[in-house]
Amino acid sequence: MINVAIDGPAGAGKSTIAKAAAKKLNFIYVDTGALYRAVAYNAVKCGAIDSEPKIKEMLKNIHIELKYNNGVQAVYLNGEDVSAYIRTPEISMGASKVSAIPEVRAFLLDLQRDIAKNNNVIMDGRDIGTCVLPQATVKIYLTASANVRAKRRYDEYRAKGMDCDYEEIINTGKKRDMQDMTRAIAPLKQADDAVL
Ligand code: C5P
Repeated sequence: MINVAIDGPAGAGKSTIAKAAAKKLNFIYVDTGALYRAVAYNAVKCGAIDSEPKIKEMLKNIHIELKYNNGVQAVYLNGEDVSAYIRTPEISMGASKVSAIPEVRAFLLDLQRDIAKNNNVIMDGRDIGTCVLPQATVKIYLTASANVRAKRRYDEYRAKGMDCDYEEIINTGKKRDMQDMTRAIAPLKQADDAVL
């Protein structure tokens, strides 16, 4: 199987590039951020997001699946398609929070590896080249300046009709990237053999 790993900070354009390339190559595009978002969504919903012990406990009662329809990914939480609820700023920060918990990362690891084992994939995330698929055929680390990335997010939110503030987006974006880059487990970083 051919596995392409794309890692990088929020808003660099990973999913845009990965989706277009996957369509052209007829590969499956795997958005791994959606998995962490689904965990965060459940934690917010059941009031566990501020408590690491509660989040760990919660993992015993959740089942997460990725399904593909015409190449479009949907994430299922306990049988419900939650894809439409996980793209908010609150869930973005929540995902970053739960993703620093080793048990959450372990919980999602096999799911990601199994898809890559059985399919040609372009997988994007933060630790794909470094941890999830260390043997990936191609590794890319995609980045851009904080301003350019914040502008992309701002335009995305505006296109969806969401109310948003550029300064807030740039500040929360920087905070989230800092959290992702400095966590103890599987931090965001360029793999030694990744192309920048
Ligand atoms: O890519 P996306 O912005 O949807 O990811 C949401 C959050 O999930 C990231 O900020 C990061 O904390 C976490 N994540 C991760 N490892 C991945 C993908 C996402 O830790 N492979």
